[in-house]
Amino acid sequence: MDTLPSTEATAAPAPRRNTVPVNVGGVVVGGGAPIVVQSMTNTDTADVEATARQVAALARAGSEIVRITVDRPEAAAAVPHIRDRLAQMGVSVPLVGDFHYIGHKLLAEHPACAEALDKYRINPGNVGFREKKDRQFGAIIETALRYGKPVRIGANWGSLDQELLTRLMDENARAATPRDARAVTREAMVQSALLSAERAEEMGLSRDRIILSAKVSAVQDLIAIYIELARRSDYALHLGLTEAGMGTKGIVASSAAMGILLQQGIGDTIRVSLTPEPGGDRTLEVKVAQELLQTMGFRTFVPLVAACPGCGRTTSTTFQELAREVQDFIREQMPAWKTRYPGVETLNVAVMGCIVNGPGESKHADIGISLPGTGEQPVAPVFIDGKKVATLRGPTLAADFKAMVVDYIERRWGAGASRAAE
Ligand code: SF4
Repeated sequence: MDTLPSTEATAAPAPRRNTVPVNVGGVVVGGGAPIVVQSMTNTDTADVEATARQVAALARAGSEIVRITVDRPEAAAAVPHIRDRLAQMGVSVPLVGDFHYIGHKLLAEHPACAEALDKYRINPGNVGFREKKDRQFGAIIETALRYGKPVRIGANWGSLDQELLTRLMDENARAATPRDARAVTREAMVQSALLSAERAEEMGLSRDRIILSAKVSAVQDLIAIYIELARRSDYALHLGLTEAGMGTKGIVASSAAMGILLQQGIGDTIRVSLTPEPGGDRTLEVKVAQELLQTMGFRTFVPLVAACPGCGRTTSTTFQELAREVQDFIREQMPAWKTRYPGVETLNVAVMGCIVNGPGESKHADIGISLPGTGEQPVAPVFIDGKKVATLRGPTLAADFKAMVVDYIERRWGAGASRAAE
């Protein structure tokens, strides 16, 4: 029998790599701090209201840092207003500005934007060419120094520093045993990030203000490049597969690539870049990132519902609907529960489809229900802490089970529980 993710990790991951911690608006990235979940908006940043709303939605879903694109003067001018609007909404999540091509100019001409952002992201391949590149990159680093902000130096496969790539390709062509072009491109990604970080350090930006990333869209490239970055430096690393894609493809590719690196102790902050369905929910990328970290045993964000996948023994979709309803209910309640019931995120719930594995799996959960399969009595035993405590049936089954979950949480993590423990 298969189950959906539970909160239990079966094997301990490798110890986290020892990186230099970076403070991003009060959130620590690296240095052994919990792996940070971040996300990015897809609104026009010049639209203050739409961007503030999406940032708030991402933050409420659990994004601990949110990136917004700052692509033109109108967007840069909007940034401090977005910060103010978020403050009115009671949201204080750190904001990162994503700069390309004219970032140096935007930061210089919009000091309130430079001040309001908690980190700048620059792509060394997108800051001009030759001496212009050095000047523009330098100007952004100087702004970061002036305002005391950290910088993410994010090399990108799609906009790799062409001068560097050409030089490495030429060197490779002259080598006695040339490597294939892909290996040279990977090396160019690693060097682009490391050389830019070195240059930023020469200008006075300390290591605790630098985060590196190397965005590629192929799983094996990402793994190879980050293993090299981790081997050659101790900068905090931002992990993310770029252009991961839509739906299950994006989720699978991101999870495969990042899961392998995280298991090796590589990665201090992650973003799952999903292409949303038209009109889709942008916060899905946050949920996927959280579930990746939680199912691997790195962090605990929200109680997850273990559910069997169903098979020929299930006569209806009742248990699938119940599993979904309970998971959605828990997610909706979590913002309030987190403050009211400290520790509730470790709750284990099981919703199972028949008697074969239902009672056994339910007994392992804090609270579990085993629904009737084909030919079984139309009753659903409920188990709490391994003991059968009730049998539910009829049209109120879902509501009754959710009420039992709430009651369990109240007894275990509520104010009464701490008084009882005193
Ligand atoms: S219905 Fe029963 S046998 Fe089928 S997957 Fe669920 S628990 Fe296993």
